[in-house]
Formats: sequence, structure tokens, C-alpha cells
Amino acid sequence: MIKNNGVVLVLSGPSGAGKSSLINKISDEIGDYYFSLSTTTREKREGEEEGVHYHFVSKEEFEKDIEADNFLEYATVHGNYYGTSLNPVREALHEGKLVIFDIDVQGNMAVKNRLGDITTSVFITPPTLSELKRRLQKRSTDTKEIIKGRIQVARREIQRTSEYDFIIVNDDLDIAAKVLKQIALTARLKIPHNMINNFVQKWEDIRE
Ligand code: 5GP
Repeated sequence: MIKNNGVVLVLSGPSGAGKSSLINKISDEIGDYYFSLSTTTREKREGEEEGVHYHFVSKEEFEKDIEADNFLEYATVHGNYYGTSLNPVREALHEGKLVIFDIDVQGNMAVKNRLGDITTSVFITPPTLSELKRRLQKRSTDTKEIIKGRIQVARREIQRTSEYDFIIVNDDLDIAAKVLKQIALTARLKIPHNMINNFVQKWEDIRE
């Protein structure tokens, strides 16, 4: 049997696609996982908490972490820095966990380049642009300007869905959750290249 290894599940998609609701819905059914807590320089939204939704830091602190090479990946989204710290991810992978990222399209590419053989990626989107607008307006935590910015980013990001292994159109939350659960369970079965090579060497156990 090949030893259980840690793997990565990247989730991307516009704010308003329902990524957090989907994760909450399946969290008891996908085994031991670690949800990667990102660091950001954006303002805290109403109801958000330090250490729960993000690590909220200043631009200077973030730039210090960039200098120290502390990020697995980072990007500028909506004019703010967002980044994934390397150490907790490394630990969770070492413990054989499913590591879940909620990161943008730039982050997905960076993770694919660094951890491609153990990464499964999913782009989650509302069915249409008008549905996305409706959801963002309903949320009412953001100003008109911010909503406009998010829509512009979403229109750019949707063009890059072919960079993902799967797309989930989140029209019906129950159905979308079932699909995401299947993908998360399958993501666990990915095996890193070095383990495959070891397996092949051991498999050829016949001495002629
Ligand atoms: P929000 O401000 O709505 O929480 O997030 C805005 C965007 O930033 C979302 O597309 C989200 O996936 C992305 N994001 C959050 N954390 C990270 C991160 O650590 N790295 C990258 N590249 N994107 C992130």
C-alpha cells in the first residue's frame, strides 16, 4: 500500500460564488483537513475576525514576510496583498492532511507550479454574471465601488477557468456541495511523483 500523503485542494472563484458556504456544508464529510488561513492587507469586513477569516496585517508587515520568503504564494487582488504562509501548509502536508486553499487565479498558477503533482483545482462560479451581481448586491457589506471592482475581477477570472481541473456552477447549493465532496475525496488519492517512483522500484522486486 502507498503511504497516505498530504494533498492540496485549490478553490477559486469570485467573491459571491459561495465557496465558504460549500466548505461549511461538506466539512464533516471529507476527513481530516486544514483550511489555509491567508494573510491580507485589506480592511476587515463587518463580522470578520482576526485569525478566523484572515490574518489582517499592514502593508509593511506583509512586505517584510515577502522579503523573508515566508509565502508559498502571494498576489495583489482588488488592490490589496493576499498570501499563503508556507509553514502551516508544510506542517499540514507532513501530517497527511487535505490542505484547502481559497485563493485567486494567480495563486492557483503559483501553487500548480510549486505543488502540481499533489494539487487538484476547482473553479466555483455562480451560473451567470447577472446572478453574481445580484448576490454581491444582496450581501450589502460592500460599497457600490467595491462591488464594481469585484465584478471586473470576476469577468477577468472567468476567462481563466481552463487552468482548473474542475468547474462547479453553484446554482443549487446541495448539488454543488455533493460535487465538491466527490472532488475533495478524489483529491486525497493523488500521489506525488517521488512516491510513484519508489513504488515502481519496489514493485520490480524480481531478480533475474
Ligand atoms: P475577499 O477579499 O473577498 O476575501 O477575497 C478576494 C479574493 O482574494 C478571492 O478571490 C480570494 O480567493 C483571494 N484570496 C484570498 N486569500 C488569498 C491568498 O492567500 N492568495 C491569493 N493568491 N488569493 C487569495
